Amino acid sequence: MNVYDSARMADVLAPLGYELSDQPDDADMVILNTCHIREKAAEKVYSELGRLRQFKNKKAETGEAMILAVAGCVAQAEGEEVFARAPFIDMVFGPQTYHRLPEMIAKATRSSGGVLDIDFPAEAKFDSLPAASGTDTRSAFLTVQEGCDKFCTFCVVPYTRGAEFSRPAKDVLADARRLVADGVCEITLLGQNVNNYHGEGPGTQEWGLGRLIHALAEIDGLARIRYTTSYPADVDDELIAAHRDVPALMPFLHLPVQSGSDRILKAMNRRHDSSDYRRLVEQLRAARPDLALSSDFIVGFPGETDDDFAQTLNLVDEIGFVQAYSFKYSPRPGTPAAEYDRQVDDEEKTGRLLRLQDLLNKQQRSFNESLVGKTLPVLFDRHGRFEDQLVGRSPYMQPVHIDGGANLFGRIVDVHIKAGFANSLAGEVSESIGGAATGEPPNDAKERISA
Ligand code: SAH
Repeated sequence: MNVYDSARMADVLAPLGYELSDQPDDADMVILNTCHIREKAAEKVYSELGRLRQFKNKKAETGEAMILAVAGCVAQAEGEEVFARAPFIDMVFGPQTYHRLPEMIAKATRSSGGVLDIDFPAEAKFDSLPAASGTDTRSAFLTVQEGCDKFCTFCVVPYTRGAEFSRPAKDVLADARRLVADGVCEITLLGQNVNNYHGEGPGTQEWGLGRLIHALAEIDGLARIRYTTSYPADVDDELIAAHRDVPALMPFLHLPVQSGSDRILKAMNRRHDSSDYRRLVEQLRAARPDLALSSDFIVGFPGETDDDFAQTLNLVDEIGFVQAYSFKYSPRPGTPAAEYDRQVDDEEKTGRLLRLQDLLNKQQRSFNESLVGKTLPVLFDRHGRFEDQLVGRSPYMQPVHIDGGANLFGRIVDVHIKAGFANSLAGEVSESIGGAATGEPPNDAKERISA
């Protein structure tokens, strides 16, 4: 979502004459778009600010100004505190205020004090943002829902992103049509709680995510649809049916479970227990047998015992994930779990994390290896690290590398998989298969750099 938000900031700033740059040293403005989800992410902001300050000082020596800004959830959560820790910052603003950037910049250049905007303004941010601009990628993010009302006891999202809000279906469809007209053929729908999407539909109807996916699939040229991140208790029958009925909906689902212990899930306020999760996975796999699952895990939540942790390992063993994100529990200021007794010590958390990751890595590798010999459609949208190498995504989200094939950039091409590694696949495109490429490459296809 921060990648998407950064692109929207770039849209707001374009009319003021700002362009994206990958060189912070002589930029007129540097915006750090930040994440507050774990302490490590939040702390990184301050070390990065220290580095950027050097550039700002250098520029000042030549009589030029660099606006230095902190956006996103660290800004929202820490507000004034950011100025206290880094007084050389010009602007601090939260995720709901990006449409007001021009005003903030005007103020920051006029005044000598810092500009702070961490309101949740009454006007809807999305109504005031310019339409998503022309993109030079084939795969785009599209925010359909923002905020969260779930209040998992470990999580800061409800405090930093605010209450749940779903964009009207017609706005989402209009954005999607515009993206496809610009050459996009894969859209990932975004929301903190994306499957609780309940946007205004035509008339007085509300649309759920399943309905929205059906409507999106009718857009000519939109070959692939994905969505992230989902809350297990909010997966409804319509969404499960969409996995069965909509071929463009890719067979990959990120469905965070967090823990395999019912006691811990309850203490996390997750509203699903481990059997609910197992049942849900069964239903999803019945709808789409090749569905590949990904998840998030937290180890060392307060009160987690060896036995609780063993139940997480059991669940992973039983379900089988093709990739996953796993984290040591990080106490976040203002969240209930940060105040719980029986915090787990760091060494214990590290040990559990390593054991869990070892199992998850094995599952990931064995899934990747199981695809060797198969032919998969791959959307090539990046250049590889080596000259003449192209990288794309399989339907199951793995990066797939091929050598050569520069003319395939931006296309979906059938690739014969030759090798499976820890995190990626390698393959080749045979002459005859190469002819099966669909879609024209975009005019100016280069990797997009986020602000
Ligand atoms: N529904 C959200 C989840 C965002 S956070 C979304 O996708 O937008 C992503 C993951 O970070 C969570 O699923 C959880 O596993 C992890 N996480 C969140 N808060 C955490 C904390 N306090 N400590 C450790 N991990 C955390």
